[in-house]
Amino acid sequence: MILNGSGTLYVAIIGAGPAGYYTAEAFAAKHDNVHVDIIDRLPTPYGLIRAGVAPDHQSIKNVALRYAATNEKDNVHFIGNLELGRDVSMEELQQLYDVVILATGAPKDRALGLEGEHLQGVYGSGSFVGWYNSHPDYRDLNPNLKTPTAVIIGNGNVAIDVARILAKTAQEMAETDLAPYAASEIHTSILKDIYIIGRRGPVEAAFTPKELGELNKLENCTPLFDPALLEAFEENTDLTVVQKKNLAILRDIAANKPEKDKIRLHLSFFQRPVAIEGDQSLTNILLEKTKLMPNGVEGTGHTAELKCGLLVSCIGYKASPIEGIPYDTRSGVYVSSDGHISGNLYCVGWARRGPTGTIGTNRPDGVGIADKILSEITPSGKAGRQGLDVLVQTRDLHTVSFANWKKIETAEQEATEGNAPRRKFTNIDKMIKIAES
Ligand code: NAP
Repeated sequence: MILNGSGTLYVAIIGAGPAGYYTAEAFAAKHDNVHVDIIDRLPTPYGLIRAGVAPDHQSIKNVALRYAATNEKDNVHFIGNLELGRDVSMEELQQLYDVVILATGAPKDRALGLEGEHLQGVYGSGSFVGWYNSHPDYRDLNPNLKTPTAVIIGNGNVAIDVARILAKTAQEMAETDLAPYAASEIHTSILKDIYIIGRRGPVEAAFTPKELGELNKLENCTPLFDPALLEAFEENTDLTVVQKKNLAILRDIAANKPEKDKIRLHLSFFQRPVAIEGDQSLTNILLEKTKLMPNGVEGTGHTAELKCGLLVSCIGYKASPIEGIPYDTRSGVYVSSDGHISGNLYCVGWARRGPTGTIGTNRPDGVGIADKILSEITPSGKAGRQGLDVLVQTRDLHTVSFANWKKIETAEQEATEGNAPRRKFTNIDKMIKIAES
């Protein structure tokens, strides 16, 4: 594509996760005269690949190699430890760059909207997953695992991830980058029962078959499912391939019997939490039976109490509101027209469309936004990276380049024990020290 006008198009992408990297890759592939800076508030790149994808799914994390290759291009640069709002304002970025793109994902947990949600022992999946994945924000979460019963709300792949990580043994996790402090809590926990609770039925669940199937291969955990729930689907020929595969896996699981000394993983459907109870800490939840309605579910009024010390709600995420940026509170995304927010400000990935799809879904999204921008914006002699460098120096900010992130990466790889791929650091000051060494 030929850029109209002359000079370099300076693009700032906020957020160094999959959406940010696929967008940078698309720009770099389109034109040499585009300069892309990928800015992240953490000193580390890769966003959800590093802190969201389950530690035992290392093959998915390998996509980071592709992002690293994008970073090797002359016209793409990573700038870590630079936070929008704290170190640099949106207005400043919009003045310095021709284009600013929010690729900040959806880091905020959706709330269940129940009173006891603040109790100790109750966590959103963003914080819980961040904790076991060494995200600096959640290092000190200290979740309560000294409980025999954990409840996971939601029927998506994140719910499965959380259940699996809680249920896997130290040996099963040996070749992963599970945070060591989380490993020592999880592998000495007294968990006997884990419940995954869906407000709708097995057909409506958002699990993918691969992830659901993994639950039936765990060393120390037996998934359990009530076969009576399958009867309604025996004759149904309208099911999708994914639904049929999920039901076949559930049929296998239904044949399981609880085994002595193994964790029981109950796959429960048609229930929703209506109260979370406890004094300071969670002691039990109240579950209401539900029935399917054309637009969701309705409570039946039949409730049952479930004693539990840990509750993780895995019910989706929202983008972080930013002052001055229009935000749709219902869907939890920035208000945009196909990714265009206003002026030279755009959004992409989960920040644009919400938390859906796989990592790869961000690729066409990135290509789409790059095409749209290249057809709408032309270089206008902005200062770009040079201008940002001046601002960084004036404010004495300690940003991290890609080359310096590689030092952190090497140190994390050297800090491992056994066959673990890396031991992720959680202390930002320590990471900056390594980066600047
Ligand atoms: P998700 O797939 O959208 O699932 C969210 C679940 O929460 C749904 O079952 C939903 O039920 C339920 N829910 C929402 N609000 C609720 C409420 N108030 N009370 C009870 N249940 C509620 O979201 P996710 O699991 O967070 O995953 C996000 C995305 O990442 C998905 O696209 C997922 O596939 C992807 N992901 C992929 C992998 C992988 O490929 N290995 C791993 C993790 C995540 P309803 O359907 O009834 O609304």
